[in-house]
Formats: sequence, C-alpha cells, structure tokens
Amino acid sequence: MDFTFAGHTDVGRTRARNEDALLLLPLRGLAAVADGMGGHAAGDVASRIAVDVLDDRTRDLGPDVAAELAEAVRAAHAAIVKAAGADPELQGMGTTLTALRVDSDGGAVIVHVGDSRAYRWRGDALEQLTRDQTWVQDQVEAGTLSEERARTHPFSSILTGALGIEDQEIEVQVVEPGCEPGDTFLLCSDGLIARLPDDEILAVLRDRGDDLDATARALVDAANEAGGPDNITVALVRAEANG
Ligand code: CA
Repeated sequence: MDFTFAGHTDVGRTRARNEDALLLLPLRGLAAVADGMGGHAAGDVASRIAVDVLDDRTRDLGPDVAAELAEAVRAAHAAIVKAAGADPELQGMGTTLTALRVDSDGGAVIVHVGDSRAYRWRGDALEQLTRDQTWVQDQVEAGTLSEERARTHPFSSILTGALGIEDQEIEVQVVEPGCEPGDTFLLCSDGLIARLPDDEILAVLRDRGDDLDATARALVDAANEAGGPDNITVALVRAEANG
C-alpha cells in the first residue's frame, strides 16, 4: 500500500497566535496534531515539544509499534513537565497529542491524549476513532448531555487528559483500526470541529475528491467560514493500492 500525506494549520479568525503543531513525515508513515494551551507563548512551546519528542522517539521503530508510540507520548509528557518546571513563564502549559503511524502492510496505529481527534473515512462513513478526553464527553457517556449540546457547551474545552500537567497520570488511548486501500485518515485539532459537525466535514472530503492538499485547505477554509473560533489544524493520510 502507498500513502499520500497532506496537512494545513491556521491561526483561525479570533486567536492572536497559533498554538497548534502539525507533524507530517510521509517517509516514516507518521502524522500528528498537537493543540497547546497555556499563558503567554507557552501553548506553542508545549505542542512543539510534543511533536519533536514524538519525531525523535520514533526514528527506529521495532515490531511493537503501538507500545513504542505510547511510550513516546509518555516521554513527551515528561519532557513538557520538565520544561515547565525549569521556566516560570512556561508553568501550567499543556497540550493534546494525536498521532497516526501507517505501514505498507496495512498496519495503522493511533495514539491519543486530549481532545484532538482521529477519524477514518471509508466508503460512505466518517468514523471517529479517538475518544475525547473532556468533561463534556464524560457527560455524554453518562447520558446527561447530548452530543449536539456537548459540541457547543461552554465547558466543551475542559480537558480530563492532557500532556504536561504535573502529577497527573496520563491515559494514552491506543487504537489499531487497520487500513485498506481507499481509506483516508483525518487528524484534527478541536478548532476544526468546534463549528463543523461530522456531516459537513464529510461533505468537504467528498467534494474535493483526489486532491488531498486542496482537501486539507478546504477543511480549514470551511472552519474559518464557520467563524474560526480557534486554531485549526488538519492532517490527512490516504491509502492507495500499489501501482
Ligand atoms: Ca484548540
């Protein structure tokens, strides 16, 4: 199987800075999105450390890719905690991290902490593969909040899991969804989904067809046209049969 990668990150319409980070390493089958948070410039420091540590720790992957990716996420957490402890200006910074690694045999591994998301578009369906580590998601699963209300809830940005928060045990979600020719994976920060329900994302994906780069830009444009309330980051990975 061959893979095409594309991605785009944008500050959005209301924020002064872009604290998201995007990692695309097609030759290594790796893509990641991180959404940083913190005062001053700390959010972009946290998201940058997360993708840098992930990059660094996954150069020579052994047979147990899932375990090594999860370990890389834990190393990123430790690196952010350490950096925050060394500089008062960076105290309290944190980040989400959602990463995908694909290989030509059809293996796909996703590791995830926070409220960025991974989806797989297959056939006519867009399936969310990650679970949002948020207060509102807990309420949805408890049956006290509808999914529609959760998306626009004033507490929708409260995370129950993030990298960099000292003394907080992180729970790394690992998903191994498999991969077939024709599948397209989408990783995104919450700025894409804040105003765009899944059916509108699917409409943009369908509309753009084969041009993956144009599709990534079109998704960002759609989020901006819907108000662009936050930084928007999109990574797309499409699987195709060889030759
Ligand atoms: Ca965000």
